[in-house]
Amino acid sequence: MSFVKKSVSTEPIVDTVFAIVRKAKEDVAKNGADVVTDATIGSLYDEQGQLVALDTCFSSLKALDNRVLAKYASAFTGNPDFCKDVYDWVLNGNSTLPHEVIATPGGTGAVDMTISECLDAGQTVILPEIAWGSYKLMAGMNSLNVENYALFDGDAFNIKDLERACKAVMAKQDKLVIVINDPCQNPTGYSMTIDEWKQVVALLNTCAKTHEVVLLNDIAYIDFAYGQEKSKEYFKVFDDIDENVAVVVSFSLSKSMTAYGMRCGAAIVMTKNEDNLRDMKNVFEKDARATWSNINNGAMAMFVDVLENHKEEYNAERRKYVALLKERSDIFIQEAAEVGLKHYPYREGFFVTLSMDNDVRDAFHEALMKNHIYTVKVNKGIRVAVCSLSVAKTKGLAKKMKDILDQV
Ligand code: PLP
Repeated sequence: MSFVKKSVSTEPIVDTVFAIVRKAKEDVAKNGADVVTDATIGSLYDEQGQLVALDTCFSSLKALDNRVLAKYASAFTGNPDFCKDVYDWVLNGNSTLPHEVIATPGGTGAVDMTISECLDAGQTVILPEIAWGSYKLMAGMNSLNVENYALFDGDAFNIKDLERACKAVMAKQDKLVIVINDPCQNPTGYSMTIDEWKQVVALLNTCAKTHEVVLLNDIAYIDFAYGQEKSKEYFKVFDDIDENVAVVVSFSLSKSMTAYGMRCGAAIVMTKNEDNLRDMKNVFEKDARATWSNINNGAMAMFVDVLENHKEEYNAERRKYVALLKERSDIFIQEAAEVGLKHYPYREGFFVTLSMDNDVRDAFHEALMKNHIYTVKVNKGIRVAVCSLSVAKTKGLAKKMKDILDQV
């Protein structure tokens, strides 16, 4: 007997991050910050160990009229100026596809809305095998099954395994919903090449001969890609999708504006089929109204003000941190190569993930903590959050980890 619906598991969420964050904090309190390396926190921190909150964004927010902050948004799909600016900012002139933009509470809202409204209960969503944990949770909450695809074939994107997963799902249902979190994949830091994206679009088009296909491209970390504007050029490849394919790009202000708690983002829906585009917009709008109603007006107004009135300043401030992130990850990757510490192919972004089997991983994770090094366990790996590690703490870390691993 339970008061909640039967289709959802009542097991508590397995919290792989906050429990370890707490342990790291206790260790700092007991032994001092110098002794402890806390590589758990998935937000951007500065060299002084403080959360980065971009001045450009928060000065803009604080200068808004109280009534702007107090107001409801002007539409359930988000304020029109916000939707337009999101589209221009994200696509950066790299798409000619018909589109709609729906404001969402962070990237989470955009991903969940797509998964829940494009698939019926009992159907299967295709997810990366090593991924942000919320995808699987969303699948469970929406009574969906999961088919995983392996991410890598050597150092490249594993298009063959994605194809295998698509075929397996096509054999049992009329539609595909595929999640690809790129660029700056969480947790591996991989970013696909334009050629790899071309292979994905070719695969989607083949599947679209017999099935409807929805690609959810989660770009949560895109504004910290080391190539900056160049990292948005792959969107051009989506212009080649067939009529039977839709792409939903999930965007978030959490990382782009360091505005994690303001809960603002967007789903950018793109497809050549105008009827399907209208249907998706209508259903997404109803989903929005039925779940969160409308999005934080102040956050949307801040985004518009920053991009329309303070863009240069915002770019300069953010790029300073992109350079810092690169400095940290360069150190870790180079030192890992020197000592032979194995990791998944890293290109850019907040995290590097060491590659290992899950049984070695568990013992290693414990051993690291005994040595005051705190990390997050992910499927087949250990995530090192270079986004929150200072340069000083990053230096020498790969060797320390390798020495500990050799003793496991
Ligand atoms: N996608 C990925 C891969 C993430 O890691 C996160 C946050 O950690 C998100 C989406 C969504 O974050 P938010 O809902 O804060 O925008």
